[in-house]
Amino acid sequence: MRPFGVSMEIKVSEIMPEGKSVELEVGLEDVGGEAAGEPGVDDVRILEPILGKFRIKKTGSTVTLFGEAKSALGLVCARCGGEFRYETESSFEMDLVPFTTIERADEKELQTDEMDVDYYKDDTIDLDEILREQVLLQAPMKPLCSEDCKGLCQYCRQDLNIKDCGCVAPTGHPGLAALKDLLKDNK
Ligand SMILES: [Zn+2]
Ligand SMILES: [Zn+2]
Repeated sequence: MRPFGVSMEIKVSEIMPEGKSVELEVGLEDVGGEAAGEPGVDDVRILEPILGKFRIKKTGSTVTLFGEAKSALGLVCARCGGEFRYETESSFEMDLVPFTTIERADEKELQTDEMDVDYYKDDTIDLDEILREQVLLQAPMKPLCSEDCKGLCQYCRQDLNIKDCGCVAPTGHPGLAALKDLLKDNK
């Protein structure tokens, strides 16, 4: 394990022909804790230190990473607005090319459209940052605290997971409205 607070960076020139394996843990201090979310998606927070594993290979100046990342996100439910915990476990593969050859990487994209192509600068790859990005990528577009979250009442904003407010939709199905009346009488 690396010393506390030191960012895990790899020097590309130091990667041997046989490649390299790395296991690391990115502490919450290093992912930014509360401020871990991207601008505009503040609703995404990293809750747990990230456990990461890498197998690193180098071909010429291209570095290929096979990685795994495990953590947990704090998300806000798109229906009820409640915060909930979302476990993440992902594996990924990416090619990194030196920043100066990024145009050539674009040409190559046709052949490697299955893979992420990214770049590195100054002979350095920041594994912490890659893990952080990979974990944040796991956040669903429309997070739900549960598949059958009932959400909020559109009339009175009551959280329907906690209790039914009894609001009746003005243009509801007549049969359904009658049923709701019936239920109300039975309370
Ligand atoms: Zn919900
Ligand atoms: Zn209501």
